[in-house]
Amino acid sequence: MQQKILILKPDRTKSLARRHPWVFSGAVAKVNGDPGIGDTVIVRSADGAFLAHAAYSPKSQITARVWSFNEADVIDGRFLEAKLKAAIARRALIQESGVTNGVRLVHAESDGLPGIVVDRYGGTLVIQFLSAGAERWRAEVIELLAQLTGCASIHERSDVDVRELEGLTPRSGTLLGEELTSPVTISEHGINYLVDVAGGQKTGFYLDQRDNRRRAMELARGRRVLNTFCYTGGFTMAALKGGAASVLSIDSSADALALGQKNLALNGFESERARWQEGDVFEDLRKLRDRAERFDMIVLDPPKFAPTAAHAEKASRGYKDINLLALKLLAPEGLLLTFSCSGGVSPDLFQKIVASSASDAGIEAQVIERLGAAADHPVSIHFPEGEYLKGLVVRRTS
Ligand code: SAH
Repeated sequence: MQQKILILKPDRTKSLARRHPWVFSGAVAKVNGDPGIGDTVIVRSADGAFLAHAAYSPKSQITARVWSFNEADVIDGRFLEAKLKAAIARRALIQESGVTNGVRLVHAESDGLPGIVVDRYGGTLVIQFLSAGAERWRAEVIELLAQLTGCASIHERSDVDVRELEGLTPRSGTLLGEELTSPVTISEHGINYLVDVAGGQKTGFYLDQRDNRRRAMELARGRRVLNTFCYTGGFTMAALKGGAASVLSIDSSADALALGQKNLALNGFESERARWQEGDVFEDLRKLRDRAERFDMIVLDPPKFAPTAAHAEKASRGYKDINLLALKLLAPEGLLLTFSCSGGVSPDLFQKIVASSASDAGIEAQVIERLGAAADHPVSIHFPEGEYLKGLVVRRTS
């Protein structure tokens, strides 16, 4: 059988040599052996040198995603088992810490498993197969994860747009065990959260914000808090547990707010301290401004405005708008916890946007902390695209 091989253009091998895991379509000179979608190919330079074993994705701009830079490796069930085992072992500390039982076990490219995301919520696993290569190995991955984690309830949430770029259709549902008819419960920093694995956003919960919710808890005492883009009230519960005087939570999703209210009851927080508002944050911040409301702490955690750097300019306008409005709503010495989960906006650019928001708002402010994703969302040092979540704690000083 002829080997399935991608041969790169002569001047396009540098990024693989630096161990970046993607081969872009423009770098490919030739495809030999007629590989099918998701098949493993050997990537070679024009002069025939081995560069990587990778998963072929003919429909995508990212034509191949690297499984291994080691020529001796064979990409099969045993290879995947070793990678999955290693990724899970890296989460041993957090799993044993008692801090949470909601953990990201596999973080795709950054764990050497391109296109595979696995979140664990107690005894329930949720998997996303996001690339052609991941999809090719789905049966093996599901079986291995069942063995390695002992979880008897495994579900898929591959109902995401990025699959279309890979020529795959959205997919979701139960893979092992019974269908979920109600949310599962996790505990994080002593707070219980209902997680809607079957119908919620992403895999059900934003695990990446765990450490930042903790920070909000520590900072919230006695403050009037505004939590925008609140989803199911992650920062709301954290602020209430930390002793916030009140929390106003805003989101456009009625389902998310309904679960937020259930979370409030589940944790026994007084309903007088929490107000929930269904609305568009861009509009509601303006209404709060027009009513001259004031808050001592504001959380801005919007969805992704810029998936890639190409969208950075439009995204910048969005960030500028909400940050400017929020800074104006802050009482003196108030805190703004502001985030961006746009891969296309760098931490540096984000800080510049917040700085210009403060200038335009006519206020003075200081950065007191820089925030990022929790440690179970590592960033491969060879894959800077993996660093998507950044945040700042900003104090209004005048
Ligand atoms: N901070 C949350 C996660 C926020 S995700 C947590 O810790 O769990 C972003 C949220 O923004 C989603 O719940 C989505 O429904 C909401 N959203 C998106 N666009 C919005 C808009 N224009 N106005 C209000 N909410 C919006």
